[in-house]
Amino acid sequence: MHTPFIIATLTIMQPDRTKCKPAATGAVVPGAAASAWLSAAVATLLAAAAAPTARAQEYPSKPVVIVVPAAAGGPTDTLARNLGVAMGSALKQQMIIDNSGGAGGTIGINKAAKARPDGYTVLLYHIGMSTSPALYRQLPYDTVNDFEYIGQVADVPMTLVAKKEMSPRTFGEFLAYARVNQSTLTYANAGIGSASYLCGLLFMSTIQADFTTVPYRGTGPAMTDLVAGRVDFMCDQTTNTTPQIKAGTIKVYGVTSNVRVPSLPDVPTLDEQGLKGFALVVWNGLFAPRGTPKPVLDRLVGALQTAVTDPAFKTRLADLGAEPVPLAKATPESLRTLLKSEIDKWGPIIRKTGVYAD
Ligand code: ASP
Repeated sequence: MHTPFIIATLTIMQPDRTKCKPAATGAVVPGAAASAWLSAAVATLLAAAAAPTARAQEYPSKPVVIVVPAAAGGPTDTLARNLGVAMGSALKQQMIIDNSGGAGGTIGINKAAKARPDGYTVLLYHIGMSTSPALYRQLPYDTVNDFEYIGQVADVPMTLVAKKEMSPRTFGEFLAYARVNQSTLTYANAGIGSASYLCGLLFMSTIQADFTTVPYRGTGPAMTDLVAGRVDFMCDQTTNTTPQIKAGTIKVYGVTSNVRVPSLPDVPTLDEQGLKGFALVVWNGLFAPRGTPKPVLDRLVGALQTAVTDPAFKTRLADLGAEPVPLAKATPESLRTLLKSEIDKWGPIIRKTGVYAD
């Protein structure tokens, strides 16, 4: 882990050799200058070493920004806002959302990777962290090594949904209809690297069809267009689709988890409707830029652990078909292990499709 404060101080304290030359008056000799420099350097080093502790004790003294690599109003935004309330009360500080959508989340991920590693910027993102290394030949950040890990946050199933006017009534009918009309059907998603894109890619390869994809900066705006009937269908997280399904503004054909979602008990899984083995649940994790000091990370881990066990947070997510992770998964090690195994899992599957974003 970096210790940026100490490195910066040391840089300032490099001895200036010219000052070691005897002054014209002969009052300053090299030995005295070197020893004065040494004492100053030691004092500064001691102060610098103490600084992170002092900072950690004060932390957080101002709002903490959660970078959401998607537009406002979508599933990651919804999760971040609820998480921000729960973690914010544990940290006794406000958490504010920075929606930086685009390029399937990679713009926001990059922004968080390059942010000052001082604990005032964290990143909430999901399964897309593990698919973008295969989808993008060139990423401006190193997915595994440019972050500190705080912990897993929540698991969110997805739903296959369509505009209300879509004529097929059941998933079986939709499948037949989609195969026949694939050249004209439009499929909305949050861009290459998003969960909605991944779900569509798996769906298309499973049913051997090809639809026109319509990318958005997040499925928040995509949902607006789906409700308005400007796009035909999408596969999106229950945190975004549940309110619309319940309000009857969109049609639902199935959930992507291998068991039904308690908040949508009447919606069958795709697996039970014949798409055997089709299972996709979106994991979400909280990251910090590499070099964030350990005492600050510890505070964030503690706040995350308070959040995932917070009854209000649990209830809010359950209403939206999602579930905070068990405490044991809200840890840095668990997120690090998950990310690595997910990259290993999705890489070969995506490479087989031959799809690249760049
Ligand atoms: N994360 C995106 C959003 O919040 C959705 C997605 O990944 O499909 O809009």
